[in-house]
Amino acid sequence: MATLTDKKYPKRVRNELRFRELTVLRVERISQAFQRIVLGGEALDGFTSAGFDDHTKLFFPEPGSHFTPPTVTDEGIVWADGVRPQTRDYTPLFNAEKNELAYDFFIHDGGIASQWAVAAKVGDKLTIGGPRGSLVVPEDYAWQLYVADESGMPALLRRFAALRQLPARPQVKAIVTVADAAYQDYLADCGFEIDWVVGHSAEAVAEKLAALKVPEEDYFLWLTGEGAVVKSLLDEFVTDEIDPQLVRSQAYWHKK
Ligand SMILES: Cc1cc2nc3c(=O)[nH]c(=O)nc-3n(C[C@H](O)[C@H](O)[C@H](O)COP(=O)(O)OP(=O)(O)OC[C@H]3O[C@@H](n4cnc5c(N)ncnc54)[C@H](O)[C@@H]3O)c2cc1C
Repeated sequence: MATLTDKKYPKRVRNELRFRELTVLRVERISQAFQRIVLGGEALDGFTSAGFDDHTKLFFPEPGSHFTPPTVTDEGIVWADGVRPQTRDYTPLFNAEKNELAYDFFIHDGGIASQWAVAAKVGDKLTIGGPRGSLVVPEDYAWQLYVADESGMPALLRRFAALRQLPARPQVKAIVTVADAAYQDYLADCGFEIDWVVGHSAEAVAEKLAALKVPEEDYFLWLTGEGAVVKSLLDEFVTDEIDPQLVRSQAYWHKK
């Protein structure tokens, strides 16, 4: 039986907070429901993202309005002109070799981020902040569970790309809910089998989770998706047997 001290725990690392104004290099409709926006520019220098589920803040100023990205000083973040545009969280997909940063936007009704991605053109500017910190989750847990909807699929893409490189593949259970079966194409080449739930049924996901047996040790659980859904699914894992430090749950969006 592993003791607390020899257990593998995710570790938090802090990054220097920087705001970067980047330029759209390419716009790619990479799948039925995802628009990839590839960004570059000198401001990307020094970018790091150590956690597969890192998030960066993307700034969406009013179209046509003047926006000066904030600066970080010893006193904190300084907002020029007092203008604070709306922000949304997105998973950075960084290619260090090419010095390019991509975001995969799930295209849905309404939403400034989704609409921005649909309309984005080469040469457009996007200001991003972070990632301010990262949770570095060991890759070699023997048993790993991932629950997500479309909003978590970019983080899964990132995670599975890393897990594919391991000399010994962990046992991965992935339950992903999508609004439409066609959206599965985004993870078609991820290298891991996915248990799909088409139609976003929280009950169907809960049933699948109830049928799983989390091993006594060497496991990691990751749950994301719509806030109320994540909260209800998490109940399954709040037990004396499961170490909360090996469970990562996060609301990726909220139904309005
Ligand atoms: C850590 C983190 C990482 C994330 N990474 C990504 C990512 O890489 N790619 C990505 O697409 N999203 C990602 N998200 C989710 C994204 O931030 C939200 O979906 C966000 O609300 C989208 O902003 P919007 O302006 O398009 O829509 P909003 O203005 O926030 O919402 C408009 C309407 O759309 C609904 N809505 C919002 N998001 C969704 C959704 N995912 N599905 C269905 N309806 C929705 C809202 O309830 C509302 O009715 C991430 C979230 C977090 C917390």
